[in-house]
Amino acid sequence: MVTYGQNRIYFDCNATTPILEESCKAAICSMQRVYGNPSSTHMAGAEAKLILERSRQFASDVLNANPNEIFFTSGATEAIQIGILSCLQSFADSSIKKELNNSKKILVASTEHKAVSSALEHWLKVLKLNIPIVVLEVNTDGIIKYEQLSEHAKDTLLLCTMAVNNETGVIQNLKKIERIIRKQKHHIYWLVDCVQALGKIDLDFKNFSIDYASFSAHKIHAPKGIGFLYLRDGAPRCPLIVGGGQEQGIRSGTENLPGIAALGVVLEMLSGRKKGVPVQALRTEKELESFRAILVNALKKAFPTIEFNSDFKDSVSTTLNFSIFGISSKELMNVFDAAGISVSGGSACNSKSVSHSHVLIAMKLPEWKLASAIRLSFGFATKKEEILAGAEAILSAGKALRNTCLNLSCNIENNSYESISPEDEIHGVIQIDYQNANSWLLIDKNEKNCIIIDPTYESIDRIVNIIKCRNFNVCAVLDTHSHADHESARKNIFLALNLPDNSKDPLGWPNESDEFLNFSSHYWKIKKLKTPGHTLDSVTYLVYNLSDQNEPIFAFVGDTILSGGLGRTDFGVSGIKHFYTTLQTLDKVLAEKTILCSAHDYNSSFATVWGVEKKNNQLLQKVFNPYCIFSFEEFSSEKKILDSQITSQNQHGQIVCGLINTYEIKDTNLPILDHAKLLADNYFVIDIRERAESLLFKDWNFIGLEVRPTNIPKSQIVNLIINLVHGENEYNNKKIALVCSTGNRSLFIAKSLRRIGFKLVWSLNGGFAFSRLKHDEQDK
Ligand code: PLP
Repeated sequence: MVTYGQNRIYFDCNATTPILEESCKAAICSMQRVYGNPSSTHMAGAEAKLILERSRQFASDVLNANPNEIFFTSGATEAIQIGILSCLQSFADSSIKKELNNSKKILVASTEHKAVSSALEHWLKVLKLNIPIVVLEVNTDGIIKYEQLSEHAKDTLLLCTMAVNNETGVIQNLKKIERIIRKQKHHIYWLVDCVQALGKIDLDFKNFSIDYASFSAHKIHAPKGIGFLYLRDGAPRCPLIVGGGQEQGIRSGTENLPGIAALGVVLEMLSGRKKGVPVQALRTEKELESFRAILVNALKKAFPTIEFNSDFKDSVSTTLNFSIFGISSKELMNVFDAAGISVSGGSACNSKSVSHSHVLIAMKLPEWKLASAIRLSFGFATKKEEILAGAEAILSAGKALRNTCLNLSCNIENNSYESISPEDEIHGVIQIDYQNANSWLLIDKNEKNCIIIDPTYESIDRIVNIIKCRNFNVCAVLDTHSHADHESARKNIFLALNLPDNSKDPLGWPNESDEFLNFSSHYWKIKKLKTPGHTLDSVTYLVYNLSDQNEPIFAFVGDTILSGGLGRTDFGVSGIKHFYTTLQTLDKVLAEKTILCSAHDYNSSFATVWGVEKKNNQLLQKVFNPYCIFSFEEFSSEKKILDSQITSQNQHGQIVCGLINTYEIKDTNLPILDHAKLLADNYFVIDIRERAESLLFKDWNFIGLEVRPTNIPKSQIVNLIINLVHGENEYNNKKIALVCSTGNRSLFIAKSLRRIGFKLVWSLNGGFAFSRLKHDEQDK
């Protein structure tokens, strides 16, 4: 019995599928009993050969192809390589090569899997063939543009399309494509990636003129590391791996018999279903459609502003790709993950960048949809109970987001927010980042007052939702300067909150004088300090504790000081001389321990500390060296060199506001903590996932704790930094273990805390996922 992840609802079947029990059994049987080599001539070998050929027969039955057209490979990627190599190798023949200069081309659809586009580039290079690749566009529904195909067909040697898209589930009309390409006088070789189509749409190769097609077992509830190629009888062929001559010499190497046996079982079921025999383990098309309807219903209820990114009539019912305004893919994935549902994000993210799906870009989706895309996919063996449990979990994810003020439009019961428990009150600094740009909120929970600093346009809804949902009074919406890379969202925020814009200066300061801001608070006083340089209008907002008004505890410094760098001073509106003076001014006002909250965070540092910047930034070291005067001229020439090194735009096409990584604090050991060590020693455990995730998560005790760990969401981590830096608190000299789902986010925070001088902070390796695996293993 498979025990891993028993409580999870797995909706990422386009990435890989859980293996059917019958398929597992066949693999085990092949390993324990029928373990002969199919090439051996004794009985053990003959038995193995029988299994091999049976699986081939089932594959050909499902595809309506001849068994000699089926070649087992390690998976679809390998099948694609053999198909493309075979075809291109035939072009390298001198007879065809002569024609190549006559504008011959290869057509590849823009939504193809990378295995196809990369293989084409690779093999063209290896074979030294100079054939241009023309990308065939798709329309906004993801369907290839037939006019463009017709236009290019007469010069096309090879066409690569897919049957069903892995990200959107969009089905291409293969018959229509075939009609266009077969009208030509010459034969266009045609490779169809059928990985996501097998078992979901009808494939009939006797009635198709496809030359090559790829298939993968792990997408159809069979194991990884096995797949097959359909190679039409008579189509050019070229081995990828040579040796013992297995698979008609196209793919040498002893066959992966356990994999082939396991795949064979599922193919047998598919072939049975095709013949109308009900197969208990597989759902019918009708059932799959009803599953989609259940999930769509739950999604619409939980997230009323949801938009689906493909037309249901053009796509398989097992794939749903959608976006929810105002919530990023990563945030949604995290919340689904905490609710026990595994889905996949439409964008691949790492700490510093988010790269959007090339498929959704090709469909020309707007930026917000790209940034928020989620793919939910189930399989043809998914059970109704899993779908129903998934629908429940979706509703609870929507509700948790609503109760933590992140779901912009959830209306599960009615449209009013549930009352928020005192534990869920937010207080202090909230950081809302969008592609490295920070919007900040400073909230006083007692007075229910808040100020907003440097709001970005993209964060408006998020900010407005927090304010409305918590009933905060907005005392001011401030900017630290007129930003070069984004517009201030101040006016939009006032408008959305139905409040008059109270600003008395262009940056939003609501008082007549520069003295303390009119912000009634139990905790803080806020003062404006002119800090021109990065722009001439730059200011810093200094925040003082009411109990100690000598030194600011933190400051919103805009782009004057960045974590690991300085704001650039080469804009038309910059003043390098002013910047030099500003540094001296700041040093007089800021304390070594003042925490700096910048308008940009290119380093995933969250915030930094003035003393740390002064000590480690080489230019600041010179400016503040008490033993050697560093003149403005010297400063200016070094600063100009630094500014000239700034790449003018980041990967999002935005202006970069300062140079970062001017220094790095080397820590040879990553602050990673082993699970066993966490249990053996006394750590103060902090769950840094966002509040909704923490609330949804049931398995926190798998890490061996008796009480739910303290939750300080990543977006509020600056409050932890403030507490740590200013000491005298519950964490004093305690070892801190940060935990999240996978150990990724917590590691960034641990590194950032180490960077600013905290040596007693670690990130739990592998996060809750690893603890859960350990728990499951012990349970077995
Ligand atoms: N083509 C498509 C459409 C896919 O979804 C995948 C898997 O992600 C592949 C090809 C590659 O398959 P495999 O993992 O078997 O190499």
